[in-house]
Amino acid sequence: MSQGSAETRRNVNLDSVLAEARQRFTDANPKSLARHKDASASLPGGNTRAVLWYRPFPVSLVSGDGCRVTDLDGHTYVDLVSEYTAGLYGHSDKTIAAALVEVIQGGIMLGAPNLYEARLAGAVVDRFPAIERVRFCNSGTEANIMAISAARAITGRSKVLAFREGYHGGVLTFAHGGSPLNLPFPFVFGDYNDIDGTVALIREHAGDLAAVIVEPMMGGGGCIPATREFLLALRDATRETGALLIFDEVMTSRLDYHGLHGAHGINPDLVTLGKYIGGGASFGGFGGRADLIDRFDPALPGAFSHGGTFNNNILSMAAGFTGLTHVLTQEASKAINQRGDRLREGMNAALEKHGVEAIVLGRGSLMNLHFVKGPVDTPATLDDADPSLIALWHVEMLLRGYYVTPRGMLALSLPFGDAELDGFLAAFDDFLSSNRQVLPSRAA
Ligand code: PLP
Repeated sequence: MSQGSAETRRNVNLDSVLAEARQRFTDANPKSLARHKDASASLPGGNTRAVLWYRPFPVSLVSGDGCRVTDLDGHTYVDLVSEYTAGLYGHSDKTIAAALVEVIQGGIMLGAPNLYEARLAGAVVDRFPAIERVRFCNSGTEANIMAISAARAITGRSKVLAFREGYHGGVLTFAHGGSPLNLPFPFVFGDYNDIDGTVALIREHAGDLAAVIVEPMMGGGGCIPATREFLLALRDATRETGALLIFDEVMTSRLDYHGLHGAHGINPDLVTLGKYIGGGASFGGFGGRADLIDRFDPALPGAFSHGGTFNNNILSMAAGFTGLTHVLTQEASKAINQRGDRLREGMNAALEKHGVEAIVLGRGSLMNLHFVKGPVDTPATLDDADPSLIALWHVEMLLRGYYVTPRGMLALSLPFGDAELDGFLAAFDDFLSSNRQVLPSRAA
């Protein structure tokens, strides 16, 4: 047998390096492995949340403190998963914890409007320019379902334009050709950041297009920022055709004190929220123009009924209000996003120094490493990446004490400071030099 092409040799080599790293990980985590096997008896794959599963098995976390988490085998990691952006406040914010203790002592399940929901709503309305009124629910998925359903009911139209590789929740997932579990809305798909193509689609479907839903930076889709021109084109074309423009800011609202729409100065008709806005408790919210959201006012004839046992649960309302008003101040928001910019720039500088063909995309406190050649403005480019490369990075960073996502996404939390940033960059540099032989090189 011949020795094969250079590409084949590299892959064989990468495969064996990855297998060896996974073996070291397995050897280091016997208790997590045992828990995973036990859990598989009652949970398919030992898991109840797809994104937390990875090969060979996920570590089980038992505690968190500040920006650190500790697993069942006793390893402590600096946490850059940050609960997929929901953990913005870190694991032990004292102000939020005190608010939670106070409301728990006052009775958890009140079953009436409580003192916190309007305070949280007021904080949301004060902060996000496009949100004049807001309603709460329990997850980002639910928020998007409500926003899309409201848009269809308000416009009397049926179609929804979304973007290929976008993610708006478990039943609104458009990565890799979509999911058989998706809601049966009549979707039309555009390509992210493709102005001409998308405007043409909006006009083509104008008569029956209820909504365009878009993240102003693709989060789960790889942290690809939308260009301002693209977002403005969506704003103009939806206004022209009468479709409602929905910005899914479940992840991106953390990127500026006023949300990413506020940073761009572009007001969509509806905005959806989730993640950290609940202060660490489950949360979803949808808001926007008063004339649209007021359709949910039960006192009005023909009002939309919007139920949800836990919509105003006191834990999310109190933790959310306290976080937004006492912890995530203008200064804190600015600082976390500036630190994120420094981390992204530091990683890109390290990739350049080592001549590795990869790029870190993103903005502020949210970013994603991709083993592709930049620049990237649309997710199709990311298909070029060899999945074994990010898998190797993931396991190697875990072994170095950094808790990172398997897809390369990194999210900062407020307690993540300069020492953690420097430590992460040193570990990343060490990963690059230790594995340089199996990492792709930049074209000269
Ligand atoms: N929208 C976006 C952009 C998200 O990233 C997510 C979750 O990651 C969701 C919606 C769904 O939110 P949840 O997981 O709270 O249902």
